[in-house]
Amino acid sequence: MADKAYEKLLGELFDEYSRFAPKSKELQQRAEKRMVNGGNHTLRLIEPFPPRIVAAHGGWIDDEDGHHILDFWQGHLANILGHNPPVVTQALARAFEEGWGLQTGFTDQVQIEAAEILCRQTGADRVRFTSSGTLGTMYSIMLSRAYTGRRMVMKVGGGWHGAQPWALKGIHFVPQDLGFQKVESAGVPVGVTDQVIVSGFNQPERLEDHFREYGDQMACFIVEPFIGVGGNMAASREYLQTARDLTERYGVVLIFDEVIAGFRFRAGNLGGLYGIQPDLTTLGKIIGGGMPVAAVAGRADIMNLVARGASRQVGFSGGTYSAHPASMLAARTGMNYLAEHEHEIYPRLGELGERARRLFEETFQQEGISAVCTGGANGILPGSSMFMIHFPHREGMRPRTPEECCNPALFDVTLSQKVVDLAFLLENVFMLHCHGAMSTANTEDDLPFLEQACRRVARRIKPHLTPRQPS
Ligand code: PMP
Repeated sequence: MADKAYEKLLGELFDEYSRFAPKSKELQQRAEKRMVNGGNHTLRLIEPFPPRIVAAHGGWIDDEDGHHILDFWQGHLANILGHNPPVVTQALARAFEEGWGLQTGFTDQVQIEAAEILCRQTGADRVRFTSSGTLGTMYSIMLSRAYTGRRMVMKVGGGWHGAQPWALKGIHFVPQDLGFQKVESAGVPVGVTDQVIVSGFNQPERLEDHFREYGDQMACFIVEPFIGVGGNMAASREYLQTARDLTERYGVVLIFDEVIAGFRFRAGNLGGLYGIQPDLTTLGKIIGGGMPVAAVAGRADIMNLVARGASRQVGFSGGTYSAHPASMLAARTGMNYLAEHEHEIYPRLGELGERARRLFEETFQQEGISAVCTGGANGILPGSSMFMIHFPHREGMRPRTPEECCNPALFDVTLSQKVVDLAFLLENVFMLHCHGAMSTANTEDDLPFLEQACRRVARRIKPHLTPRQPS
């Protein structure tokens, strides 16, 4: 439920949006008859209803109601080349034309080339493809448990690794319940969640405590080197180095979950930028070139547990659509393109990201609302296309950890998670939970439009804000 203060504003936004997008509203009613909440993937089913899309090109989407919307969500951050990038769609069109691409169930050269480029760009020995990041993180944990013969899994509070049994704990912050300890789903075996320890992101001292207590029972530590849902923050080198040192000391498998970070900051893994190689990396999103591709990549001795005849063979084996041929073609084409154009693409994306983050902060500030953006570079990342807007209760406070940015006592999470997205959508700008990224399809010309939208959002919400504490 929204805070009392926002009930009125949200009610107004819901009403206005219903008038703004009547066709999407009508389609929602039809959708709800056959699909729970009217669709799939809870996050994209925004309230009161999502825009129903008819076309998407580059940085923009078009909805049923004729709105041309600047989209920063970009395929759950998968579409770094924008929607329907010709380099990928043309490769797919040619393949389909030639009668190639939907012959699922066989293997071919394209798949080998996709594996080669992924390993080359990430420093992995071996890769196995699957069809979602969720499956990737689940298999990486199964591999770690088989490799070490241990049961416990450590993740960080605010870390999202998909909805799979070991990852459904400690995602959302519950102030009255010690922060990030909640089991997030019914139906998950208690035996599994009991084996999950939740540590802190970017808090090396907590890692040390956790390893001291549980290190010799732990199979793996899974962590995003750039945390997405938990606040869009890059890990410090000290934190990742501590994780590497402790996992080595205790014989624990270190997994970098780079489903968001992989190919986002460079044409490869983020571990490579830190110069810290994990044992396994999970990838998804961008590596698929817009198609459903994910991967577990890493050390040969661990990955070889999926091999026929392995002594503790891991059942990372099925998946009708694993390494689907058309998906592999999109993956190979997309990753090749990013690798070939790495030196133009990433600096430009970093510059656009920096300008967007500044734009949000300055525009809200000019309108009397304190807003700070995370997602920026940190001295190791040369630049970043990501952003997440936060609204601190105390003027200018910047979150340093998920515990801070998700804490309603410090930041106005109702505003960022429930209100602002819808206010932006009424200005034809799409983001989710104040979170998004620039793609190569964005240009400088998008920025004045974004600034105008942001100003109108700020003016709309300002009268509903309670006065802030002085700094
Ligand atoms: N890991 C991370 C870091 C993610 O952000 C996500 C998805 N947002 C996943 C895993 C799960 O990936 P998928 O949605 O492809 O299953």
